[in-house]
Amino acid sequence: MATLTLHPGRERSLLRRHPWIFDTSVAALSGRARPGDTVAVADERGQVLARAAWSPESRIRARAWTFDPAETVDDAFFKRRVAAAVARRQAIPGLADQQGLRLVHAESDGLPGVIADRYGDTVVLQLTSAGAERWRSAIVGAVARATGCPRIYERSDSEVRALEGLGPETGWRLGAPSGDPVVIDENGVRLRVDVEGGHKTGFYLDQRDNRLLLRRLAAGKRVLNCFCYTGGFSLQALAGGAERVLSIDSSSPALALARESLALNPGLDPARAEWREADVFEDLRRLREAGERFDIVVLDPPKFAPSAAHAERASRAYKDINMNALRLLEPGGLLMTYSCSGGIGVELFQKIVAGAALDAGKRTGAGARILQRLQGSPDHPVDLAFPEGEYLKGLLVEVD
Ligand code: SAH
Repeated sequence: MATLTLHPGRERSLLRRHPWIFDTSVAALSGRARPGDTVAVADERGQVLARAAWSPESRIRARAWTFDPAETVDDAFFKRRVAAAVARRQAIPGLADQQGLRLVHAESDGLPGVIADRYGDTVVLQLTSAGAERWRSAIVGAVARATGCPRIYERSDSEVRALEGLGPETGWRLGAPSGDPVVIDENGVRLRVDVEGGHKTGFYLDQRDNRLLLRRLAAGKRVLNCFCYTGGFSLQALAGGAERVLSIDSSSPALALARESLALNPGLDPARAEWREADVFEDLRRLREAGERFDIVVLDPPKFAPSAAHAERASRAYKDINMNALRLLEPGGLLMTYSCSGGIGVELFQKIVAGAALDAGKRTGAGARILQRLQGSPDHPVDLAFPEGEYLKGLLVEVD
């Protein structure tokens, strides 16, 4: 095994169990390693601190698989880690019986670059690092064994793979499509999931608990769901007794799937649901000009700031939609607002929303307060040593 030696002092983050080793920390690599190979990581005195996946193309030059210098990274390693991740979810009340469930959440489950989402008896796997790519067959075998699922589809088409020098890889790794569309039951609502063509692995499982919260708030309300994708929040709002749900997204395939899902739920009244293909930035203005009012607005936009470098421009975009959403609310109305940008932290997001509320209330003098802080569901844990894992943050805001 090749050994990667760190510059003096650069072992500090590893000692705090942060799994990333940046190019600027690497003093030397002794021996040969191909992309994805396991290397020993040593401090300048030669003491081995971790075993990591070598990724020469990436600024994250290596990702630690294990902080135990004696642990071997082999098929059995992946079996142990995947089984532990699956067992962790089995132990959390309310998660074990979810048909849509994130089974492996990358670094926060000790498996950098590995995402596995379960939709019924189909698991969708996404590999995003050179190390994960190297161990594909071990990971597929481990997931099959830990879940007993007969079907595994790989959706390694995320653009972040390019940073690791990897192209897209997709296809069935175990079994074949069943012929029936993939449908999950999420807390009593049936949802179609397009595992081959949808966003990410097909669905945004991280918002499950927040969709349930909306359902609890929705009785008798007029709800506006911006960036609705396949209608997860919309259908939960209808299930909660919303009077009207207007859902906006720019993707027509996503809206088509939303309509299909609604039809799978005979208890939900399609006459209360309106789907609109539009740009949210423009449509929020149009709704205001038309004098429309809502009791609850949901804003769950895509990542505007993938990294801190994009934070400033992204902040302006977040402020714009939040301000215009707040202006559509009736007195006492609720804004459920999110950011899934890694480059925007919890504090900055709160500042942006505060600025938006101040501007929205300028003419009326209306104030706004946080009722609840929102985050991803517990099948998307955040390792305390890896704060970068906390990408999804949200606020439930009430206006005067
Ligand atoms: N809330 C959804 C997930 C939203 S993902 C859920 O719970 O499943 C973000 C969505 O924003 C995507 O569906 C994407 O098509 C849409 N989108 C991106 N930019 C947009 C824009 N400018 N206007 C409208 N929709 C947009």
